[in-house]
Amino acid sequence: MNKCYCGLPDEYSKCCGKVHSNINNAKTAEQLMRSRYSAFVMADGDYLMRSHHSSTRPLKDKNAIANWAKSVTWVKLEVIGKFEGNEQDDEGTVTFDAYYYENGKLEVIHEKSAFKKESKCWTYLGLAT
Ligand SMILES: [Zn+2]
Repeated sequence: MNKCYCGLPDEYSKCCGKVHSNINNAKTAEQLMRSRYSAFVMADGDYLMRSHHSSTRPLKDKNAIANWAKSVTWVKLEVIGKFEGNEQDDEGTVTFDAYYYENGKLEVIHEKSAFKKESKCWTYLGLAT
């Protein structure tokens, strides 16, 4: 059995795949964040937009984001920390490292992301302040 793209031991269909098919299945900010990492691996621009808070959604960059995601080789995701973002919360942050190869060089995105519920669903708001 293969691990999910996000690194959790469950297979994709029981992990991020459940969130991709219905975003309401992301019960925590971390689950939403993991599903977005998996969507980067799959270069799923539509899901990256859908999981983005409408106030910050970069619609005009959708194709560029998906093309970039497709052009690199994703290695792994490491969740480093989180604050709130549990099922009963409306906001939270997740800090992570996302590793990928670009032009043969190992790169890492280190980010503290802010998440906020919109219409009762977790969404990605942007960089946490
Ligand atoms: Zn997953």
